[in-house]
Amino acid sequence: MAKIFAVANQKGGVGKTTTTVNLSAALAAHGQRVLLIDLDPQGNATMGSGIDKRSLPVSVYHQLVGLKSLAEVRTRAEAAGYDVLPSNRDLAGAEVEMVDLENRENRLRDALREVDADYDFVLIDCPPSLSMLTLNGLCAAHGVIIPMQCEYYALEGLSDLVNTIKQVHAKMNRDLKIIGLLRVMFDPRSTLSQQVSAQLDAHFGDKVFKAIIPRNVRLAEAPSHGLPGVIFDRAAKGSQAYLSFAAEMIGRVKEG
Ligand code: ADP
Ligand code: MG
Repeated sequence: MAKIFAVANQKGGVGKTTTTVNLSAALAAHGQRVLLIDLDPQGNATMGSGIDKRSLPVSVYHQLVGLKSLAEVRTRAEAAGYDVLPSNRDLAGAEVEMVDLENRENRLRDALREVDADYDFVLIDCPPSLSMLTLNGLCAAHGVIIPMQCEYYALEGLSDLVNTIKQVHAKMNRDLKIIGLLRVMFDPRSTLSQQVSAQLDAHFGDKVFKAIIPRNVRLAEAPSHGLPGVIFDRAAKGSQAYLSFAAEMIGRVKEG
C-alpha cells in the first residue's frame, strides 16, 4: 500500500516545492516507486521535474473535475525517476468548478485508490493557501510534512496550519497526522536559526525531523535545468541532506 504525504504550509516561498521534488527524487534514488502530485496552479513542481507545464495535454485539473482518470493524467518524469500528476494554470479554475461536485474534498483521495498498488510513496505539493486544493491534499494523505525556515516569523503561521490539520483529522480524515517539521534553508552560522531550531526541538520533540536541509544554491539552480537538485548535483550539500531525509522517511514508514 502506498504511503501518502502532503507537503503543506500556507506560507509561500518556504520550500514546499523544493522539498516535494527533491524528496521524490531522493526516494526514487533509494529504490522507491514514487508519484508526485502537483496541486499548485503555478506548476513549479511540474517544471522542476522536467515536464513542460505549457504543453500539457491533460493535467491534475482534468482529474479533479472528473474529465479524466488519474491513470490517464499521470506522466513519467524520466530523468527525475518518478511519475507526476502535472499541473498548470488550468488548475486555478478548478476551485470554482468543484463547488458543485459531490464529495469535492475527496476527489483526489478516491482517485488514488486506483493506483495504490503502483507506488511506495505518493507526495503532494500543496499550494500556499488553505484552499479546496490543499484540502484535497490533506484528505488524501496519511500524514503532513511541514517545511519551515528557522526565522522569527516561522512559528507564527504554524498554529493556523496545525488547527486546520486538527479539523481535517476530526471531521474528514481520521488517518491524518503531522509526520514532522522539516527545517529548510538552514543557515548554521545564524544565531537566530539555531535559536528557532532549538525552540522547535523543545516544543515538538520527535515531530522534528533529524535531517536538516541547508541553504544551498545548487538546489535553487536545479529547476532552471528541469531537474531535481538531487539529480542535477547529487554531491551538493543540499542534495545529500534530501537523500538523508528520504532515508529517515523510509525508516519512519517501516516503524509504522
Ligand atoms: P514554496 O513551494 O513553499 O513556495 P519553493 O520550494 O518554491 O517554496 O522555494 C522558494 C524559493 O527558495 C525558490 O526560489 C527555491 O529555489 C528556493 N529554495 C528552496 N529551498 C532552498 C534551499 N534549501 N537552498 C536554497 N534555496 C532554496
Ligand atoms: Mg511551491
